[in-house]
Amino acid sequence: MTHTVAILTGASRGLGAALAFGLAREGTHLITLARNLHPDLARHALSHGCTLDEHTVDLAHPASAQAAATRVFAGMPRNAQRYLLINNAGTLGPVGPVGLQQADAIAAALNLNVTAAMVFTGHFLHATRGLTANRRILHISSGAGRNPVSGWSVYCASKAALDMHARAVKAEQGQQGARIVSLAPGVVDTAMQEQIRATPAEDFPSLTRFQTLHAEGQLAAPADVASRILTYLERDDFGATDVDDIRHY
Ligand code: NDP
Repeated sequence: MTHTVAILTGASRGLGAALAFGLAREGTHLITLARNLHPDLARHALSHGCTLDEHTVDLAHPASAQAAATRVFAGMPRNAQRYLLINNAGTLGPVGPVGLQQADAIAAALNLNVTAAMVFTGHFLHATRGLTANRRILHISSGAGRNPVSGWSVYCASKAALDMHARAVKAEQGQQGARIVSLAPGVVDTAMQEQIRATPAEDFPSLTRFQTLHAEGQLAAPADVASRILTYLERDDFGATDVDDIRHY
């Protein structure tokens, strides 16, 4: 019997991989999407009684994202008590002063960070409409969507878009519909942070802040953040604060 169906993007590494390992429990049907597979997730899921459906897809291509969403939701079990969608896949995108970014790079970042999350949210709502199950959507946002960072105009704008998307979906769903939150995860020790620390200083004035956070051991471990996010997803008041930050809990 499937208790929970969880759909998670960006499960191959970083925070998404930690969320996938945390979600892989008895009674859960876990559906993951990324360009790559995590090498150990299938074995872990099997040994924990979780059924796993892994999809490799480049979500920066809208047509591929749309096709993947259609496939995923058509094959999803429909008898669960709980449905979760976690839009976690994301990219920093082109970093540097405004005016030097290529249109293709801007579009790819927005397609992944925003369009794919919107497409999956739409398909999720459509596929679960009419079910009496508990339905929850989580966008993984960023503090950068709420406070501007020089050099990250594309990333900041993409995360601000996710925040507003969550607010608009909440307004549409009302009290009885699916619940949604756009959640900042804090500074997490992943490849994205490595990429941030490798940015040329001239493109990114805050470079030393992120280098110092790392040097002082202040990056959160992905498994710790994932565990706090999964606890947050269980809260009775999930959705009451539509734009939230896990560091408040
Ligand atoms: P990582 O770069 O470590 O992982 C990103 C994940 O997204 C990977 O699983 C990757 O899989 C997937 N992904 C990237 N590009 C694509 C693509 N084109 N198609 C499909 N999947 C893709 O990032 P984090 O784990 O650090 O970030 C996870 C989320 O948390 C992101 O939304 C990020 O913006 C957010 N965040 C992270 C912070 C941090 O400090 N790390 C701070 C604030 C927010 P693959 O490469 O296999 O496709």
